[in-house]
Amino acid sequence: MPGGSWMRRSSIFRFALIAFCLSVPAKSESPDMPQVRIEVTRRGDDWQAAFVFDRDFTTWVLPRSALTAEGGQPWRAPSWNVETRGVRLQRRGSYDVLVADRGKLPRRVDVSFTPVPDRLQADYSPALTFTDGSVALFVAQFDGFPMDSLSAVGKLPSDLNNQMVPAAALEYLFRDSAGPVLLDGRRVAVAETADSNTYVLFGGTRPIETPDMIGILDPQLPPWIKESLTRSVPALLGRYTQELGRLREFKPALMVSWGGPTPGLVSRGGSVLRGLIAMQYEGSGVLEESVAQRQQGLWFIAHEAAHFWLGQTVAYEYARDAWITEGGADLLAVRAVAELDPEYDPKIELNRAIADCIKLTKRHGVAAARDRGEHRAYYACGAVFGLVAEAGSGRSFYKFLRPLIDDNRADGVVTRAEWLAAFDTATRKPMLRRDIERLLDKGVSDPVDFIANLLAQAGVSFEVDPSGIPRLR
Ligand SMILES: [Zn+2]
Repeated sequence: MPGGSWMRRSSIFRFALIAFCLSVPAKSESPDMPQVRIEVTRRGDDWQAAFVFDRDFTTWVLPRSALTAEGGQPWRAPSWNVETRGVRLQRRGSYDVLVADRGKLPRRVDVSFTPVPDRLQADYSPALTFTDGSVALFVAQFDGFPMDSLSAVGKLPSDLNNQMVPAAALEYLFRDSAGPVLLDGRRVAVAETADSNTYVLFGGTRPIETPDMIGILDPQLPPWIKESLTRSVPALLGRYTQELGRLREFKPALMVSWGGPTPGLVSRGGSVLRGLIAMQYEGSGVLEESVAQRQQGLWFIAHEAAHFWLGQTVAYEYARDAWITEGGADLLAVRAVAELDPEYDPKIELNRAIADCIKLTKRHGVAAARDRGEHRAYYACGAVFGLVAEAGSGRSFYKFLRPLIDDNRADGVVTRAEWLAAFDTATRKPMLRRDIERLLDKGVSDPVDFIANLLAQAGVSFEVDPSGIPRLR
């Protein structure tokens, strides 16, 4: 392996789980690590990015180089224009690369660009555009690392997850000549961050703002969507903040854009990033309110917003422990939506979780579900374990989670052992813990009876359907 400092790119894409649920570990830095500053400026329709290097590099690799979802083309070539003489943007293997015509790159490379709102294959859109001209840029589109030769770039695998790549400490800086920009939920004249897994918003869309959240809703969204989100999302984030504690690193943000009333289309997409939920609605099918649409939209936001605490404030230790964050976010979402929308019946989602957990634990443990492609097990069984924690402790799920989050803010991780210890403390019934461990590690031969017994021992109130499957009353 070549010299210099290297770092493991850890799970920049955890797309395996539904809806881009991410948790990004902190980067470690060594003293000799190259320092690179990326300054992005908007002046009217003119967008500029400057890459400022603290030393000489042969190439600067841009790892977020996924192809467009439609057409399968690199997205930078048509939209980025390198203005620094003697420097070109090239494609090598799976990556766009900045490279000098000869020798090393200059210490500063200027690029003018047009924001690209296209969907990409398995990555976030480089830009989200709003109908009033506001634009959110995906910060990580400017990520990069140096390599010594173009041929080495060509040999990089298409998936950099868990690959060792040369390390560089990146610092991003954003400014707009027209006014403040919005980053990490705060509007500032110049936004600075070292954390690229989020969007930064340029533009004047008037936000909905409370002490607990900030929301940017496209002014042309169908009125019922605007009305529903304006009413529910501040209440949701207020509730989570009250119960789970104030977030310290960012103020939660929601950005919702509108793709227009495309005939015959019903579309709601979204993803969660660091401190931010980004959503898009599109289609004639979402112009009129329906109870299902309203509840699904809110449930989506409630699940993703739960990850600001369970996932971003505290993450799991290993992917096999995703039941802690995914099942936890599912149960939090069910509880929160039921509080906000009196027409919502929480039993439907919870009974689905019970039935799915039964299906997915027959002679198979939940922990290894990802090896079988059964990611649903983390959501379904994690929610069931949450139900058991609630009933077994006689307290709300919020109250169960709060000490787990508070006690682990410092290292940012809730391990399986920590979750189970908190569960023991809350329920004081060791057999419940043993049953959960059994489901995690091995599964059981008769999950219908086993899970019915687990719920009964915890004091969950249910009846059974003709096949013996528990149904919440
Ligand atoms: Zn999730």
